[in-house]
Amino acid sequence: MRVELLAYTPNADVICASAGNSCYSSSPAHEIMGDVDSERILNRIVGMGHHSVIEHAVFTFSVEGVSRALTHQLVRHRIASFSQQSQRYVSMDDPSYVVPHTIEGDPEAMALFESTMDAIWKAYSDLESMGIPPEDARYVLPNGCTTNITITMNARELLHFFSLRCCNRAQWEIREMADRMLDLCLEVSPVIFRNAGPPCVRGPCPEGRLTCGEPRSKRGSE
Ligand SMILES: Cc1cc2nc3c(=O)[nH]c(=O)nc-3n(C[C@H](O)[C@H](O)[C@H](O)COP(=O)(O)OP(=O)(O)OC[C@H]3O[C@@H](n4cnc5c(N)ncnc54)[C@H](O)[C@@H]3O)c2cc1C
Repeated sequence: MRVELLAYTPNADVICASAGNSCYSSSPAHEIMGDVDSERILNRIVGMGHHSVIEHAVFTFSVEGVSRALTHQLVRHRIASFSQQSQRYVSMDDPSYVVPHTIEGDPEAMALFESTMDAIWKAYSDLESMGIPPEDARYVLPNGCTTNITITMNARELLHFFSLRCCNRAQWEIREMADRMLDLCLEVSPVIFRNAGPPCVRGPCPEGRLTCGEPRSKRGSE
């Protein structure tokens, strides 16, 4: 998997803090930008639950080589924009799939997995040879098939996304992607994302009897 931060709101911490402070100031955001203490202001305003202030910061990621199982989970997040490689217009001729670690680490399971993938891609190729278009031949392709996707989310949605998907209850693949996205966000916007991650980095786990029982450390402190 490869995760790149393609674009982001520059000075996101300062812009969101200035926007927040302008609500309580006679001056507009552009006049108070130079003087704001982003950390103090965002801690106060966002801490009060006024999360709309951090919607001014937007982040775009390019993700390569993740499974369609992952993107199916990802696109459930509705306050986001996605552009995903099409299996209708891009032929999937080359076998490319994600192998879960549980399968990779078990020779018998791995042999079964690989022979199944070989059979699937042979069927895909045979269907194309019969004149079946890629958009229909793809119906035989597996959840593990790799894909590329571009994601844009604002910081409010990202905090929510990290809360759900950096959690140990999320599946390992989307958790790995979310962790990498959070690391990239922390590099450019350390104040907004300082407490980002699963609920257990901020307090008690809300998962009840489904808790993993293993609180995670804050990103950046791991
Ligand atoms: C560990 C885990 C297991 C899961 N298991 C399943 C499963 O078995 N089956 C399944 O179907 N899904 C499952 N999901 C997906 C889950 O139910 C959500 O669809 C997904 O996480 C998106 O979350 P969301 O709706 O909170 O966020 P987003 O779509 O990102 O929305 C963000 C927030 O905006 C608000 N919002 C967005 N749309 C609306 C709306 N229409 N009305 C009111 N408020 C809105 C809500 O406050 C929401 O939390 C699972 C998710 C996780 C993390």
